[in-house]
Amino acid sequence: MLKPKAKELNSPDASVVAPTSTPRIIPRSDHTISRSHIAPNALRVLYRLRDAGFRAFLVGGCVRDLLIGLEPKDFDVATDALPEQVKRLFRNSRLVGRRFRLAHVFFGRDIVEVATFRAASAPSQGEEPLPDADPEDGEAPELDEPQLEPEFEPELPPTPTVSGPQAYPGAGAGSDAAAKRMFDETGRILRDNVYGTIDEDVWRRDFTANALYYNIADFSLWDYVGGAEDIAARKLKLIGDPETRYREDPVRMLRAARFEAKLGFEMDPATAEPIGRLRDLIGGVPPARLFDETLKLFLSGHGARSFEVLRRRGLLAGLLPTVDAYLKGRPGSVVEKLMLQGLKNTDARVVADKPVTPTFLFALLLYGPIAQIIEATPPERWHELSTILDACDKAAREAQTHVAIPKRFILGVREMFGLQPRLEHPRGRRALRGLEHPRFRAAYDLLLLRAEYGLASPEMARWWTRIQEVSGEERANMADALTGQAQSLDSPRRGGRRRRRRHRPPAPS
Ligand code: ATP
Ligand code: MG
Repeated sequence: MLKPKAKELNSPDASVVAPTSTPRIIPRSDHTISRSHIAPNALRVLYRLRDAGFRAFLVGGCVRDLLIGLEPKDFDVATDALPEQVKRLFRNSRLVGRRFRLAHVFFGRDIVEVATFRAASAPSQGEEPLPDADPEDGEAPELDEPQLEPEFEPELPPTPTVSGPQAYPGAGAGSDAAAKRMFDETGRILRDNVYGTIDEDVWRRDFTANALYYNIADFSLWDYVGGAEDIAARKLKLIGDPETRYREDPVRMLRAARFEAKLGFEMDPATAEPIGRLRDLIGGVPPARLFDETLKLFLSGHGARSFEVLRRRGLLAGLLPTVDAYLKGRPGSVVEKLMLQGLKNTDARVVADKPVTPTFLFALLLYGPIAQIIEATPPERWHELSTILDACDKAAREAQTHVAIPKRFILGVREMFGLQPRLEHPRGRRALRGLEHPRFRAAYDLLLLRAEYGLASPEMARWWTRIQEVSGEERANMADALTGQAQSLDSPRRGGRRRRRRHRPPAPS
Protein backbone atom coordinates (compact mmCIF):
# COMPACT_ATOMS: atom_id res chain seq x y z
CA MET A 1 0.00 0.00 0.00
CA LEU A 2 1.08 3.51 -0.64
CA LYS A 3 2.57 5.39 2.25
CA PRO A 4 0.37 8.44 2.93
CA LYS A 5 1.34 11.58 1.12
CA ALA A 6 -1.56 13.77 0.27
CA LYS A 7 -1.11 16.08 -2.62
CA GLU A 8 -4.44 16.01 -4.43
CA LEU A 9 -3.99 16.33 -8.14
CA ASN A 10 -7.70 16.40 -8.80
CA SER A 11 -10.15 17.96 -6.45
CA PRO A 12 -12.33 15.18 -5.02
CA ASP A 13 -15.50 16.34 -6.74
CA ALA A 14 -13.96 17.17 -10.12
CA SER A 15 -15.83 14.95 -12.54
CA VAL A 16 -13.20 15.07 -15.27
CA VAL A 17 -9.71 13.82 -14.51
CA ALA A 18 -7.16 15.43 -16.79
CA PRO A 19 -3.56 14.25 -16.65
CA THR A 20 -1.09 16.87 -15.49
CA SER A 21 1.79 17.71 -17.82
CA THR A 22 4.41 16.68 -15.29
CA PRO A 23 4.03 13.68 -13.07
CA ARG A 24 4.04 13.51 -9.35
CA ILE A 25 7.10 11.36 -8.76
CA ILE A 26 6.77 9.08 -5.77
CA PRO A 27 10.25 7.96 -4.74
CA ARG A 28 10.99 4.36 -3.79
CA SER A 29 11.05 5.31 -0.12
CA ASP A 30 7.42 6.46 -0.33
CA HIS A 31 5.78 3.44 -1.88
CA THR A 32 5.71 -0.26 -1.18
CA ILE A 33 6.52 -1.85 -4.53
CA SER A 34 9.54 -4.08 -4.08
CA ARG A 35 11.44 -5.73 -6.90
CA SER A 36 11.05 -9.02 -5.06
CA HIS A 37 7.35 -8.90 -6.05
CA ILE A 38 8.04 -8.32 -9.73
CA ALA A 39 8.34 -11.36 -11.98
CA PRO A 40 12.01 -12.01 -12.81
CA ASN A 41 11.22 -12.08 -16.55
CA ALA A 42 9.60 -8.66 -16.39
CA LEU A 43 12.66 -7.35 -14.52
CA ARG A 44 14.93 -8.83 -17.21
CA VAL A 45 13.03 -6.95 -19.91
CA LEU A 46 13.08 -3.69 -17.94
CA TYR A 47 16.80 -3.93 -17.21
CA ARG A 48 17.75 -4.75 -20.78
CA LEU A 49 15.77 -1.79 -22.12
CA ARG A 50 17.30 0.49 -19.50
CA ASP A 51 20.82 -0.76 -20.23
CA ALA A 52 20.28 -0.09 -23.94
CA GLY A 53 19.53 3.55 -23.14
CA PHE A 54 15.72 3.45 -23.29
CA ARG A 55 13.17 4.44 -20.73
CA ALA A 56 11.35 1.46 -19.30
CA PHE A 57 8.36 1.34 -16.95
CA LEU A 58 5.97 -1.23 -15.62
CA VAL A 59 2.50 0.09 -16.24
CA GLY A 60 -1.16 -0.70 -15.81
CA GLY A 61 -2.80 -3.44 -13.81
CA CYS A 62 0.45 -4.90 -12.52
CA VAL A 63 1.45 -1.67 -10.76
CA ARG A 64 -2.07 -1.31 -9.36
CA ASP A 65 -2.12 -4.91 -8.13
CA LEU A 66 1.34 -4.65 -6.56
CA LEU A 67 0.20 -1.56 -4.63
CA ILE A 68 -2.88 -3.28 -3.22
CA GLY A 69 -1.02 -6.48 -2.44
CA LEU A 70 -2.51 -8.67 -5.19
CA GLU A 71 -0.39 -10.92 -7.37
CA PRO A 72 -0.44 -9.42 -10.89
CA LYS A 73 -1.77 -11.65 -13.67
CA ASP A 74 0.78 -10.31 -16.09
CA PHE A 75 3.40 -7.58 -16.32
CA ASP A 76 3.13 -4.92 -19.02
CA VAL A 77 6.09 -2.77 -19.96
CA ALA A 78 5.94 0.68 -21.58
CA THR A 79 8.98 2.18 -23.24
CA ASP A 80 10.20 4.85 -25.62
CA ALA A 81 11.90 2.18 -27.72
CA LEU A 82 10.08 1.61 -31.00
CA PRO A 83 8.68 -1.87 -31.65
CA GLU A 84 11.45 -2.60 -34.14
CA GLN A 85 14.07 -1.56 -31.60
CA VAL A 86 12.51 -3.82 -28.98
CA LYS A 87 12.51 -6.65 -31.49
CA ARG A 88 16.23 -6.15 -32.12
CA LEU A 89 17.00 -6.15 -28.39
CA PHE A 90 15.17 -9.40 -27.67
CA ARG A 91 15.78 -12.36 -29.91
CA ASN A 92 12.95 -14.15 -28.08
CA SER A 93 10.36 -11.61 -29.23
CA ARG A 94 7.97 -10.95 -32.06
CA LEU A 95 5.82 -8.04 -33.07
CA VAL A 96 2.08 -8.50 -32.89
CA GLY A 97 -1.04 -6.49 -33.59
CA ARG A 98 -2.03 -4.57 -36.62
CA ARG A 99 -4.00 -1.83 -34.93
CA PHE A 100 -1.07 -1.04 -32.71
CA ARG A 101 2.19 -2.90 -32.92
CA LEU A 102 3.71 -4.17 -29.74
CA ALA A 103 6.38 -6.67 -28.88
CA HIS A 104 5.80 -9.94 -27.09
CA VAL A 105 8.94 -11.16 -25.36
CA PHE A 106 8.74 -14.91 -24.73
CA PHE A 107 10.22 -16.82 -21.83
CA GLY A 108 8.91 -20.34 -22.39
CA ARG A 109 5.15 -19.99 -21.88
CA ASP A 110 5.52 -16.67 -20.13
CA ILE A 111 5.03 -13.50 -22.20
CA VAL A 112 6.04 -9.97 -21.25
CA GLU A 113 4.23 -7.41 -23.38
CA VAL A 114 6.28 -4.35 -24.35
CA ALA A 115 4.39 -1.37 -25.79
CA THR A 116 5.89 1.81 -27.17
CA PHE A 117 4.43 4.97 -25.62
CA ARG A 118 1.38 5.97 -27.57
CA ALA A 119 0.12 9.45 -28.25
CA ALA A 120 -3.64 9.07 -28.07
CA SER A 121 -6.46 7.63 -26.06
CA ALA A 122 -6.79 4.51 -28.09
CA PRO A 123 -7.85 0.95 -27.50
CA SER A 124 -4.84 -0.65 -25.92
CA GLN A 125 -3.10 -3.95 -26.09
CA GLY A 126 -6.12 -5.26 -24.25
CA GLU A 127 -7.85 -5.06 -27.58
CA GLU A 128 -5.37 -7.26 -29.39
CA PRO A 129 -6.49 -10.79 -28.61
CA LEU A 130 -3.85 -13.47 -28.53
CA PRO A 131 -4.04 -16.28 -31.03
CA ASP A 132 -7.10 -18.32 -30.31
CA ALA A 133 -5.52 -20.95 -28.05
CA ASP A 134 -7.91 -23.46 -26.58
CA PRO A 135 -8.03 -22.69 -22.87
CA GLU A 136 -9.62 -26.07 -22.29
CA ASP A 137 -6.58 -27.87 -23.57
CA GLY A 138 -4.38 -25.54 -21.58
CA GLU A 139 -2.26 -25.10 -24.68
CA ALA A 140 -0.10 -22.06 -25.16
CA PRO A 141 -0.41 -20.20 -28.44
CA GLU A 142 1.69 -21.73 -31.18
CA LEU A 143 4.75 -19.54 -31.04
CA ASP A 144 6.00 -20.20 -34.53
CA GLU A 145 2.66 -19.40 -36.11
CA PRO A 146 2.10 -15.85 -37.26
CA GLN A 147 -0.21 -13.86 -35.00
CA LEU A 148 -3.82 -14.51 -35.94
CA GLU A 149 -5.55 -11.27 -36.58
CA PRO A 150 -9.15 -11.08 -35.44
CA GLU A 151 -11.60 -11.39 -38.30
CA PHE A 152 -13.14 -8.01 -37.70
CA GLU A 153 -9.95 -6.08 -38.33
CA PRO A 154 -10.04 -4.01 -41.47
CA GLU A 155 -7.12 -4.24 -43.87
CA LEU A 156 -4.83 -1.46 -42.82
CA PRO A 157 -1.80 0.02 -44.52
CA PRO A 158 1.55 -1.07 -43.08
CA THR A 159 2.80 0.76 -39.98
CA PRO A 160 4.64 3.88 -41.05
CA THR A 161 8.39 3.92 -40.56
CA VAL A 162 9.20 6.60 -38.04
CA SER A 163 12.57 8.00 -37.09
CA GLY A 164 11.96 8.10 -33.35
CA PRO A 165 9.31 8.11 -30.69
CA GLN A 166 8.65 11.82 -31.16
CA ALA A 167 7.84 11.54 -34.84
CA TYR A 168 4.11 11.95 -34.22
CA PRO A 169 3.96 14.39 -31.39
CA GLY A 170 0.46 13.99 -30.11
CA ALA A 171 -3.29 13.73 -30.37
CA GLY A 172 -4.53 16.09 -32.99
CA ALA A 173 -1.18 17.86 -33.01
CA GLY A 174 -0.62 17.39 -36.70
CA SER A 175 -2.21 16.12 -39.81
CA ASP A 176 -0.08 12.98 -39.56
CA ALA A 177 -1.52 12.18 -36.20
CA ALA A 178 -5.05 12.94 -37.32
CA ALA A 179 -4.63 10.86 -40.45
CA LYS A 180 -3.55 7.82 -38.44
CA ARG A 181 -6.65 7.86 -36.28
CA MET A 182 -10.10 6.80 -37.39
CA PHE A 183 -13.41 7.02 -35.55
CA ASP A 184 -16.76 5.51 -36.41
CA GLU A 185 -20.01 7.45 -36.24
CA THR A 186 -20.53 6.72 -32.51
CA GLY A 187 -17.10 8.12 -31.63
CA ARG A 188 -15.41 4.72 -31.31
CA ILE A 189 -11.74 4.70 -32.22
CA LEU A 190 -11.23 2.21 -35.02
CA ARG A 191 -7.54 2.64 -35.56
CA ASP A 192 -4.64 4.39 -33.97
CA ASN A 193 -1.03 3.95 -34.75
CA VAL A 194 0.65 6.98 -33.34
CA TYR A 195 3.68 6.77 -31.10
CA GLY A 196 4.21 9.39 -28.44
CA THR A 197 5.79 10.27 -25.14
CA ILE A 198 4.98 8.97 -21.69
CA ASP A 199 2.85 12.00 -20.77
CA GLU A 200 0.77 11.38 -23.89
CA ASP A 201 0.63 7.65 -23.18
CA VAL A 202 -1.27 8.38 -19.95
CA TRP A 203 -4.27 9.49 -22.01
CA ARG A 204 -4.81 6.10 -23.52
CA ARG A 205 -5.10 4.44 -20.11
CA ASP A 206 -8.62 3.89 -18.92
CA PHE A 207 -8.78 4.34 -15.14
CA THR A 208 -6.55 6.43 -12.89
CA ALA A 209 -5.70 3.26 -10.95
CA ASN A 210 -4.40 1.72 -14.19
CA ALA A 211 -2.21 4.68 -15.13
CA LEU A 212 0.73 4.47 -12.73
CA TYR A 213 4.22 3.96 -14.15
CA TYR A 214 6.98 2.21 -12.20
CA ASN A 215 10.34 3.50 -13.40
CA ILE A 216 13.11 0.93 -13.50
CA ALA A 217 15.74 3.72 -13.58
CA ASP A 218 15.21 4.64 -9.92
CA PHE A 219 12.25 2.47 -8.80
CA SER A 220 10.00 5.51 -8.42
CA LEU A 221 6.33 5.73 -9.38
CA TRP A 222 5.13 8.32 -11.89
CA ASP A 223 1.60 9.53 -11.39
CA TYR A 224 -0.04 11.96 -13.82
CA VAL A 225 -3.65 11.44 -12.77
CA GLY A 226 -3.88 11.03 -9.01
CA GLY A 227 -3.99 7.25 -9.43
CA ALA A 228 -1.99 6.68 -6.26
CA GLU A 229 -4.58 8.48 -4.13
CA ASP A 230 -7.44 6.76 -5.91
CA ILE A 231 -5.90 3.36 -5.26
CA ALA A 232 -5.41 4.25 -1.60
CA ALA A 233 -9.06 5.37 -1.44
CA ARG A 234 -10.14 2.32 -3.51
CA LYS A 235 -11.83 4.49 -6.12
CA LEU A 236 -12.37 3.65 -9.76
CA LYS A 237 -12.23 6.80 -11.88
CA LEU A 238 -12.02 7.14 -15.63
CA ILE A 239 -9.37 9.46 -17.03
CA GLY A 240 -10.94 12.23 -19.13
CA ASP A 241 -14.60 12.82 -19.88
CA PRO A 242 -16.36 9.53 -19.07
CA GLU A 243 -18.92 9.65 -21.88
CA THR A 244 -16.22 10.35 -24.49
CA ARG A 245 -14.02 7.56 -23.13
CA TYR A 246 -16.89 5.06 -23.21
CA ARG A 247 -17.82 6.10 -26.73
CA GLU A 248 -14.24 5.69 -27.90
CA ASP A 249 -14.21 2.17 -26.55
CA PRO A 250 -17.44 0.76 -25.06
CA VAL A 251 -15.51 -2.19 -23.61
CA ARG A 252 -14.37 0.25 -20.94
CA MET A 253 -17.86 -0.08 -19.41
CA LEU A 254 -17.29 -3.82 -19.00
CA ARG A 255 -13.80 -3.16 -17.69
CA ALA A 256 -15.27 -0.77 -15.12
CA ALA A 257 -17.63 -3.53 -13.98
CA ARG A 258 -14.79 -6.04 -13.94
CA PHE A 259 -12.55 -3.87 -11.79
CA GLU A 260 -15.42 -3.04 -9.47
CA ALA A 261 -15.95 -6.78 -9.02
CA LYS A 262 -12.31 -7.79 -8.91
CA LEU A 263 -10.88 -5.02 -6.76
CA GLY A 264 -13.94 -4.08 -4.72
CA PHE A 265 -13.26 -0.45 -5.69
CA GLU A 266 -16.10 2.03 -5.58
CA MET A 267 -17.03 3.50 -8.95
CA ASP A 268 -16.81 7.29 -8.99
CA PRO A 269 -20.31 8.71 -9.69
CA ALA A 270 -19.14 10.44 -12.87
CA THR A 271 -17.61 7.17 -14.10
CA ALA A 272 -20.76 5.21 -13.27
CA GLU A 273 -23.34 7.68 -14.55
CA PRO A 274 -23.07 7.32 -18.36
CA ILE A 275 -23.17 3.50 -18.26
CA GLY A 276 -26.95 3.29 -18.08
CA ARG A 277 -27.26 5.54 -21.13
CA LEU A 278 -24.46 4.07 -23.22
CA ARG A 279 -24.65 0.36 -22.55
CA ASP A 280 -26.21 -0.38 -25.93
CA LEU A 281 -22.93 0.65 -27.56
CA ILE A 282 -21.55 -2.69 -26.37
CA GLY A 283 -23.59 -4.24 -29.15
CA GLY A 284 -21.26 -2.54 -31.65
CA VAL A 285 -18.08 -4.09 -30.24
CA PRO A 286 -16.55 -6.91 -32.28
CA PRO A 287 -17.89 -10.19 -30.81
CA ALA A 288 -14.39 -11.71 -30.64
CA ARG A 289 -13.40 -9.02 -28.21
CA LEU A 290 -16.53 -9.50 -26.12
CA PHE A 291 -15.70 -13.19 -25.86
CA ASP A 292 -12.29 -12.29 -24.40
CA GLU A 293 -13.91 -9.87 -21.98
CA THR A 294 -16.51 -12.44 -20.94
CA LEU A 295 -13.78 -14.89 -19.99
CA LYS A 296 -11.95 -12.21 -18.01
CA LEU A 297 -15.17 -11.30 -16.21
CA PHE A 298 -16.17 -14.83 -15.30
CA LEU A 299 -13.07 -17.01 -15.22
CA SER A 300 -10.71 -14.91 -13.12
CA GLY A 301 -11.92 -15.85 -9.65
CA HIS A 302 -14.55 -13.13 -9.23
CA GLY A 303 -17.25 -14.37 -11.62
CA ALA A 304 -20.10 -14.32 -9.12
CA ARG A 305 -19.30 -10.72 -8.21
CA SER A 306 -18.93 -9.77 -11.90
CA PHE A 307 -22.38 -11.21 -12.52
CA GLU A 308 -23.84 -9.16 -9.69
CA VAL A 309 -22.15 -5.94 -10.87
CA LEU A 310 -23.09 -6.48 -14.53
CA ARG A 311 -26.73 -6.91 -13.56
CA ARG A 312 -26.76 -3.97 -11.17
CA ARG A 313 -25.17 -1.72 -13.81
CA GLY A 314 -27.50 -2.94 -16.54
CA LEU A 315 -24.54 -4.26 -18.54
CA LEU A 316 -25.65 -7.88 -18.84
CA ALA A 317 -28.29 -6.60 -21.27
CA GLY A 318 -25.49 -5.27 -23.48
CA LEU A 319 -23.33 -8.38 -23.28
CA LEU A 320 -25.79 -11.29 -23.23
CA PRO A 321 -29.29 -9.88 -23.89
CA THR A 322 -31.09 -13.25 -23.94
CA VAL A 323 -29.63 -14.21 -20.57
CA ASP A 324 -30.59 -10.85 -19.15
CA ALA A 325 -34.13 -11.09 -20.54
CA TYR A 326 -34.57 -14.58 -19.09
CA LEU A 327 -33.50 -13.46 -15.63
CA LYS A 328 -35.53 -10.24 -15.73
CA GLY A 329 -38.65 -12.18 -16.70
CA ARG A 330 -38.24 -14.56 -13.73
CA PRO A 331 -36.96 -12.71 -10.69
CA GLY A 332 -35.43 -15.02 -8.08
CA SER A 333 -35.82 -18.07 -10.32
CA VAL A 334 -34.19 -21.35 -9.50
CA VAL A 335 -32.09 -21.00 -12.67
CA GLU A 336 -30.67 -17.74 -11.37
CA LYS A 337 -29.70 -19.47 -8.13
CA LEU A 338 -28.14 -22.33 -10.05
CA MET A 339 -26.12 -19.92 -12.21
CA LEU A 340 -24.87 -17.98 -9.25
CA GLN A 341 -23.87 -21.12 -7.39
CA GLY A 342 -22.13 -22.44 -10.51
CA LEU A 343 -20.19 -19.18 -10.79
CA LYS A 344 -19.23 -19.39 -7.12
CA ASN A 345 -18.02 -22.96 -7.62
CA THR A 346 -15.99 -21.77 -10.61
CA ASP A 347 -14.48 -18.95 -8.53
CA ALA A 348 -13.49 -21.46 -5.85
CA ARG A 349 -11.75 -23.58 -8.50
CA VAL A 350 -9.80 -20.57 -9.78
CA VAL A 351 -8.73 -19.69 -6.25
CA ALA A 352 -7.64 -23.30 -5.69
CA ASP A 353 -5.67 -23.21 -8.97
CA LYS A 354 -7.85 -25.89 -10.55
CA PRO A 355 -8.62 -25.71 -14.27
CA VAL A 356 -11.83 -24.01 -15.41
CA THR A 357 -13.43 -24.23 -18.83
CA PRO A 358 -15.33 -21.81 -21.03
CA THR A 359 -17.62 -24.76 -21.87
CA PHE A 360 -18.87 -25.03 -18.31
CA LEU A 361 -19.15 -21.26 -18.05
CA PHE A 362 -21.33 -20.99 -21.15
CA ALA A 363 -23.46 -23.95 -20.01
CA LEU A 364 -24.19 -21.93 -16.88
CA LEU A 365 -24.74 -18.62 -18.63
CA LEU A 366 -26.99 -20.12 -21.31
CA TYR A 367 -28.93 -22.38 -18.94
CA GLY A 368 -31.93 -20.04 -18.81
CA PRO A 369 -32.23 -19.40 -22.55
CA ILE A 370 -31.77 -23.13 -23.28
CA ALA A 371 -34.48 -24.07 -20.76
CA GLN A 372 -36.77 -21.42 -22.17
CA ILE A 373 -36.43 -22.78 -25.70
CA ILE A 374 -37.04 -26.34 -24.53
CA GLU A 375 -40.11 -25.28 -22.60
CA ALA A 376 -41.55 -23.59 -25.66
CA THR A 377 -41.88 -27.05 -27.29
CA PRO A 378 -44.73 -29.45 -26.41
CA PRO A 379 -44.00 -31.13 -23.02
CA GLU A 380 -43.82 -34.61 -24.54
CA ARG A 381 -40.79 -33.49 -26.54
CA TRP A 382 -38.89 -31.94 -23.63
CA HIS A 383 -36.94 -35.10 -22.93
CA GLU A 384 -35.92 -35.78 -26.52
CA LEU A 385 -32.27 -35.42 -27.32
CA SER A 386 -33.00 -33.54 -30.53
CA THR A 387 -35.08 -30.97 -28.61
CA ILE A 388 -32.26 -30.43 -26.12
CA LEU A 389 -29.55 -30.15 -28.76
CA ASP A 390 -31.63 -27.83 -30.95
CA ALA A 391 -32.23 -25.61 -27.93
CA CYS A 392 -28.49 -25.48 -27.22
CA ASP A 393 -27.80 -24.51 -30.83
CA LYS A 394 -30.47 -21.83 -30.89
CA ALA A 395 -29.45 -20.32 -27.54
CA ALA A 396 -25.82 -20.29 -28.67
CA ARG A 397 -26.68 -18.67 -32.01
CA GLU A 398 -28.54 -15.90 -30.21
CA ALA A 399 -25.66 -15.30 -27.80
CA GLN A 400 -23.17 -15.29 -30.65
CA THR A 401 -24.63 -12.18 -32.19
CA HIS A 402 -22.80 -10.41 -29.33
CA VAL A 403 -20.18 -12.79 -27.97
CA ALA A 404 -18.19 -14.91 -30.43
CA ILE A 405 -18.18 -18.18 -28.53
CA PRO A 406 -15.86 -20.51 -30.46
CA LYS A 407 -17.55 -23.57 -31.89
CA ARG A 408 -15.67 -26.09 -29.79
CA PHE A 409 -17.17 -24.59 -26.63
CA ILE A 410 -20.67 -24.69 -28.11
CA LEU A 411 -20.12 -28.35 -28.95
CA GLY A 412 -19.09 -28.88 -25.34
CA VAL A 413 -22.26 -27.19 -24.08
CA ARG A 414 -24.36 -29.45 -26.35
CA GLU A 415 -22.62 -32.51 -25.00
CA MET A 416 -23.10 -31.42 -21.40
CA PHE A 417 -26.82 -30.89 -21.89
CA GLY A 418 -27.20 -33.89 -24.18
CA LEU A 419 -25.74 -36.13 -21.47
CA GLN A 420 -28.21 -35.02 -18.80
CA PRO A 421 -31.00 -37.50 -19.69
CA ARG A 422 -28.43 -40.32 -19.84
CA LEU A 423 -27.12 -39.40 -16.41
CA GLU A 424 -30.60 -39.07 -14.98
CA HIS A 425 -31.80 -42.38 -16.38
CA PRO A 426 -28.82 -44.68 -16.71
CA ARG A 427 -29.62 -47.97 -18.37
CA GLY A 428 -27.77 -51.00 -17.04
CA ARG A 429 -24.11 -51.60 -17.78
CA ARG A 430 -24.29 -49.29 -20.77
CA ALA A 431 -24.49 -46.48 -18.25
CA LEU A 432 -20.90 -47.16 -17.32
CA ARG A 433 -19.81 -46.00 -20.73
CA GLY A 434 -20.98 -42.54 -19.74
CA LEU A 435 -18.05 -42.44 -17.32
CA GLU A 436 -15.65 -42.55 -20.25
CA HIS A 437 -17.31 -39.73 -22.14
CA PRO A 438 -14.83 -36.85 -22.49
CA ARG A 439 -17.51 -34.46 -21.27
CA PHE A 440 -18.61 -36.69 -18.38
CA ARG A 441 -17.00 -34.62 -15.67
CA ALA A 442 -18.57 -31.35 -16.80
CA ALA A 443 -21.96 -33.02 -17.34
CA TYR A 444 -21.77 -34.60 -13.88
CA ASP A 445 -20.94 -31.24 -12.31
CA LEU A 446 -23.99 -29.78 -14.04
CA LEU A 447 -26.12 -32.70 -12.80
CA LEU A 448 -24.95 -32.00 -9.22
CA LEU A 449 -25.94 -28.36 -9.55
CA ARG A 450 -29.30 -29.26 -11.03
CA ALA A 451 -29.93 -31.74 -8.25
CA GLU A 452 -29.01 -29.12 -5.67
CA TYR A 453 -31.79 -26.91 -7.01
CA GLY A 454 -34.45 -29.58 -7.47
CA LEU A 455 -33.99 -29.83 -11.24
CA ALA A 456 -32.71 -33.41 -11.17
CA SER A 457 -32.98 -36.30 -8.77
CA PRO A 458 -30.55 -36.01 -5.83
CA GLU A 459 -30.45 -39.84 -5.53
CA MET A 460 -29.24 -40.10 -9.10
CA ALA A 461 -26.61 -37.45 -8.48
CA ARG A 462 -25.41 -39.41 -5.43
CA TRP A 463 -25.38 -42.59 -7.50
CA TRP A 464 -22.98 -41.00 -10.00
CA THR A 465 -20.82 -39.64 -7.21
CA ARG A 466 -20.60 -43.09 -5.64
CA ILE A 467 -19.95 -44.96 -8.86
CA GLN A 468 -16.83 -42.87 -9.45
CA GLU A 469 -15.46 -43.82 -6.06
CA VAL A 470 -15.90 -47.61 -6.11
CA SER A 471 -13.96 -50.50 -7.71
CA GLY A 472 -14.73 -51.80 -11.20
CA GLU A 473 -16.53 -54.83 -9.78
CA GLU A 474 -18.66 -52.74 -7.51
CA ARG A 475 -19.48 -50.47 -10.43
CA ALA A 476 -20.86 -53.37 -12.42
CA ASN A 477 -22.96 -54.40 -9.40
CA MET A 478 -24.31 -50.90 -9.05
CA ALA A 479 -25.24 -50.83 -12.74
CA ASP A 480 -26.93 -54.25 -12.52
CA ALA A 481 -28.83 -53.25 -9.40
CA LEU A 482 -30.01 -50.15 -11.16
CA THR A 483 -31.24 -52.21 -14.12
CA GLY A 484 -33.42 -54.27 -11.75
CA GLN A 485 -34.72 -51.15 -10.11
CA ALA A 486 -35.40 -49.47 -13.40
CA GLN A 487 -37.33 -52.52 -14.65
CA SER A 488 -39.54 -52.54 -11.63
CA LEU A 489 -40.08 -48.82 -11.91
CA ASP A 490 -40.98 -49.13 -15.54
CA SER A 491 -43.15 -52.17 -15.19
CA PRO A 492 -46.94 -51.74 -14.96
CA ARG A 493 -48.11 -50.57 -11.61
CA ARG A 494 -48.50 -53.34 -9.02
CA GLY A 495 -49.21 -51.33 -5.94
CA GLY A 496 -45.97 -49.37 -6.28
CA ARG A 497 -45.81 -45.77 -7.51
CA ARG A 498 -45.18 -45.57 -11.21
CA ARG A 499 -42.78 -42.97 -12.43
CA ARG A 500 -44.83 -40.32 -14.10
CA ARG A 501 -42.25 -38.94 -16.42
CA ARG A 502 -39.15 -40.75 -17.43
CA HIS A 503 -37.23 -37.66 -18.32
CA ARG A 504 -37.25 -34.17 -17.04
CA PRO A 505 -36.26 -31.25 -19.14
CA PRO A 506 -32.93 -29.82 -18.08
CA ALA A 507 -34.51 -26.83 -16.48
CA PRO A 508 -38.13 -26.28 -15.78
CA SER A 509 -38.09 -22.85 -14.20
P1 ATP B 1 -5.91 -7.28 -15.44
O1 ATP B 1 -4.60 -7.69 -16.04
O2 ATP B 1 -6.05 -7.44 -13.99
O3 ATP B 1 -7.05 -7.82 -16.19
P2 ATP B 1 -5.18 -4.71 -16.43
O4 ATP B 1 -5.52 -3.35 -15.93
O5 ATP B 1 -3.75 -5.09 -16.42
O6 ATP B 1 -6.06 -5.70 -15.61
P3 ATP B 1 -5.08 -5.26 -19.22
O7 ATP B 1 -6.20 -5.62 -20.13
O8 ATP B 1 -4.01 -6.24 -18.94
O9 ATP B 1 -5.77 -4.81 -17.87
O10 ATP B 1 -4.45 -3.90 -19.80
C1 ATP B 1 -3.26 -3.34 -19.32
C2 ATP B 1 -3.40 -1.83 -19.22
O11 ATP B 1 -3.69 -1.28 -20.51
C3 ATP B 1 -4.53 -1.34 -18.33
O12 ATP B 1 -4.17 -1.25 -16.99
C4 ATP B 1 -4.83 0.03 -18.91
O13 ATP B 1 -3.90 0.97 -18.48
C5 ATP B 1 -4.62 -0.21 -20.39
N1 ATP B 1 -5.87 -0.62 -21.07
C6 ATP B 1 -6.27 -1.87 -21.37
N2 ATP B 1 -7.43 -1.88 -22.03
C7 ATP B 1 -7.79 -0.59 -22.17
C8 ATP B 1 -8.90 0.06 -22.78
N3 ATP B 1 -9.87 -0.62 -23.38
N4 ATP B 1 -8.92 1.41 -22.75
C9 ATP B 1 -7.92 2.12 -22.15
N5 ATP B 1 -6.87 1.55 -21.56
C10 ATP B 1 -6.79 0.22 -21.56
MG1 MG C 1 -2.87 -6.85 -17.17
